[in-house]
Amino acid sequence: MRIRTRLALQFLVLASLIVGAAFIVVYARAAEFRQEQFHDRMRSRGENTASLLLDVAEVDDHLLRKIEQKSPVRLVKEGLSIYDANNALIFHLGEDHGLLEITPALLDSIRKQGDVERITNDRELLAFSVNKPNERSVAVVSGQDLYGRGKLQDQARVMLVTFLIGLVLIFLIGRAFARRALSPLQRLVMDLRTISASDLSRRSALGKGTDEIAQVAVSFNDLLERLEAAFAAQKNFIANASHEMRTPLTAISGQLEVLLLKERSGEDYRNALNSVLEDMHSLNRLSNRLLLMAQAETDATGISFAPVRMDELLWAARSEVIRTDAQNRVDVFIAEVEEAADITIQGNEILLRSLLVNLIENACKYSNDHHAIVTLKGNRTQLSIEVADHGSGIDTADHERIFQQFYRAPSAAGTKGHGIGLSLVKRITELHGGRVHVESELGAGARFIVSFYRAR
Ligand code: ADP
Repeated sequence: MRIRTRLALQFLVLASLIVGAAFIVVYARAAEFRQEQFHDRMRSRGENTASLLLDVAEVDDHLLRKIEQKSPVRLVKEGLSIYDANNALIFHLGEDHGLLEITPALLDSIRKQGDVERITNDRELLAFSVNKPNERSVAVVSGQDLYGRGKLQDQARVMLVTFLIGLVLIFLIGRAFARRALSPLQRLVMDLRTISASDLSRRSALGKGTDEIAQVAVSFNDLLERLEAAFAAQKNFIANASHEMRTPLTAISGQLEVLLLKERSGEDYRNALNSVLEDMHSLNRLSNRLLLMAQAETDATGISFAPVRMDELLWAARSEVIRTDAQNRVDVFIAEVEEAADITIQGNEILLRSLLVNLIENACKYSNDHHAIVTLKGNRTQLSIEVADHGSGIDTADHERIFQQFYRAPSAAGTKGHGIGLSLVKRITELHGGRVHVESELGAGARFIVSFYRAR
């Protein structure tokens, strides 16, 4: 069922309960009032007749009958009886009462305990004692309240018809209101339908309002913003990655083509093949990093974590960096710790090793002395690794940017690289809940500090 119809129906049920209850109360009060009024009429008929009969000496049964027969206040199908103090029927006019058998015991009980009433669908009766001093007569009056009951029935009919028409109106108005209230939602749905993966730049105009639906639209627009950025970053990544791959591939094919142009000496072949091999290594490193990057970016939940001894990993990274280029020098300092746990973190060994290799390689690569100084410190709450060098340094303006994918500082122009290493370092640090930053000035060397925190 659509929300619009459901809301209208709920509105209808609620309104009909309230209006229905109000009508029932009004009807009950009207019925009570009618009965009270008719009782008053019956009582005054009985009292007047008894008073004429008992108080006026000139009025006898015969005269009274004549007077009463012509009385304009007689009830419809009226029965009127007066009993004296000895329970003798001293006057009767009109119909049989029918509703009650009048016995001496009943009359006595009326005198002692008060009025007796009887009501059926078409007839009502009231028996009461007429308390004249010393004379305890009883009047029994019965009749039909045609006018009162007719009025009541008419009122009930009007109320029922009003109620039914009201229900229809309430349902229609409720539905119209619900449609109006939900129309922004409908518009939001239309807006969302027009936004496709290929056109994420569109936004819902509803996001400018202040109501709840505008809040949904704002959240949706934010989501689109993030999606658009993610799509753009992905496109960028692919473009940059393929560009970085193409450069060494072009160099390799260029060198091979030149080599094949004519017959070469063994020395030439050796030189060319060495150069090609170097490009192949670079390509290999690039593809490894891209692979790691893709893994760290897309499947963070699938990465397995285990306790990793950072000192051991550091020595392994050092060996790897020295193996890549024999010129590289790496000094490792491990601050004294109370226990091995202080230099152990919960992490992924492959990713952490890549983080260390990248930082140490950069330190060697961007300094003329190819010298990296690595310091490992650890305590119960924190573990930090500092990788410092005496190289070209980094301009303050680039401190943030060097961590972006494929960004290379202008000062790195003469050095080979792809601009991926530091973005990978940042991503790996974040995956381990840590932070990385650089302290450096142009020409004054650089110090990269990675901090991991642990809750014990
Ligand atoms: P790559 O070294 O392949 O260019 P990175 O992502 O590792 O890519 O580094 C990004 C940029 O940061 C480098 O191009 C360089 O400009 C700068 N950089 C990184 N490490 C150092 C360092 N130790 N000294 C000076 N500049 C550095």
